[in-house]
Amino acid sequence: MAVDEKVLEEILNSYPAKVKRTRKKHILLRDSSLDRQEIEANTRTIPGIMTNRGCAFAGCKGVVLGPIKDMVHIVHGPIGCAYYSWLTRRNKAIPEEPGKNYLTYCVSTDMQESDIVFGGEKKLARMIDEVVEIFKPNAITISATCPVGLIGDDIQAVARAARQKHGLSITAYNCEGYKGVSQSAGHHIANNGLLEWIVGQGDWEEPPGKYTINMLGEYNIGGDSWEVERVLKELGYHVQATLTGNGSYEDIKNAHVAELNLVQCHRSINYIADMLEKKYGTPWLKVNFIGIRATCESLRNMALYFGDEDLIRRTEEVIARELAEIEPQLEPYRKICAGKTTFCFVGGSRGHHYQGLYEEIGIQTTLAGYEFAHRDDYEGREVIPDIKPDADSKNIPELHVVPDERRYRPKLSRERTEELKDKIPLSNYQGMNITMKDGSLIVDDMNHYETEEFIRTLKPDIFSSGIKDKYVPHKMGLPSKQLHNYDYSGPYAGFRGAVNFARDISMSFATPTWNFIDPPWKSRPLLEGTIEKPSQEGEA
Ligand code: SF4
Repeated sequence: MAVDEKVLEEILNSYPAKVKRTRKKHILLRDSSLDRQEIEANTRTIPGIMTNRGCAFAGCKGVVLGPIKDMVHIVHGPIGCAYYSWLTRRNKAIPEEPGKNYLTYCVSTDMQESDIVFGGEKKLARMIDEVVEIFKPNAITISATCPVGLIGDDIQAVARAARQKHGLSITAYNCEGYKGVSQSAGHHIANNGLLEWIVGQGDWEEPPGKYTINMLGEYNIGGDSWEVERVLKELGYHVQATLTGNGSYEDIKNAHVAELNLVQCHRSINYIADMLEKKYGTPWLKVNFIGIRATCESLRNMALYFGDEDLIRRTEEVIARELAEIEPQLEPYRKICAGKTTFCFVGGSRGHHYQGLYEEIGIQTTLAGYEFAHRDDYEGREVIPDIKPDADSKNIPELHVVPDERRYRPKLSRERTEELKDKIPLSNYQGMNITMKDGSLIVDDMNHYETEEFIRTLKPDIFSSGIKDKYVPHKMGLPSKQLHNYDYSGPYAGFRGAVNFARDISMSFATPTWNFIDPPWKSRPLLEGTIEKPSQEGEA
């Protein structure tokens, strides 16, 4: 059964009237005949609703800062916050110096009741001393959690004093979990800190080689960035810094020398991409290395940006060779996947990025959405001036960035910029809406009730999601693919990653597991009871 306005209305009718009105604004039935379809996003989740979102701390420490390998990331707060953000995204890293990979450690002040009552600043200062003594890291970050904000610990003052004492980069991030409406707020806070305190701290004035680029918003989940870099390096690109998968403080310090910034996950990193352009004159290009067509297009756009005939020719050669390698490998998987459908409800960019890859193996996306996106992720970047800031978004500081007096160097002339903007997504990204098929559903901040109802109605063959909603479809006898951390697999990016993805999705369909799962409601009634005879008049 397809979802039309009537079916949608019936599903939403289970909500109280006010909740229904709110949720309706977060759901669209794609209709390409309309000029623009507006959706509500990046607003508070209604209390009581089972959302899949995370907190600002998760976005700051868990997503953006956490993967930087040669820094020790201290979580100032209760141990649960630290445990929850401890490598759960499977960001892989290889140290450049022996022993300088601290990602496997979970470092926390482990606040107890007495710290909440008497304050945790002294404990944090002692922890920094201990970290310096034990690990001798290149740099340290401190991330605040909810209780720290509530009791008013001044983590900036502690970081300042520790910087003076140890002569190290020790930076603090006020990313208390309750800030903003989702992890998206934490991404912004981390972007601000990286720009203010880390990028530009290196002393390089010139790029170390031709075609020096940074990869922004690539988190090396399951080794994604290694697969992308394999091809980029062969083409002659020098990847100066990756923000932040397999990222290193030493590389990010000199990220200001790049000639181009690539933006993969625009939702989590577009802030710093914009600020780097303002501060150093480095343009950014939206890329997508998930999916074969998207990877080819991104490589072609990069070559066009540099405008070097030899690079353009080599790009075509490498694409042809990679396609010849992977196409025969994909064939058996395509036979298994052909004609199937999926839901693609992931994060802030992946819900869009993965649709192309699914299509390439024969799977159509019938519902897609994001957990923590903003309207521009659905409707396109041109909608940003129309988004009215609210109390929650105003809570996240916007940095006032001006050109760096010494290092600002425009990489393109104004004419060349305009010429390129007509051909490639320079400083731009399209939203998800435009690529969705008519009649498909777009759902923002989809909750567990809606997940179950839309699965019952649309009956997808697979569900792609994050960890919190992954088991809802499992209990319904449906395979699911975790696209936040790839369920112990990957890489899924680039050419070879596409083959891994096709293999894993095919395995999900081919496994006999689902024959052994009988959802409880198929064999047992959901409610049991007895009907009592109505009592006779006069009986007690
Ligand atoms: S919401 Fe607050 S308490 Fe919960 S994990 Fe995030 S920072 Fe920690």
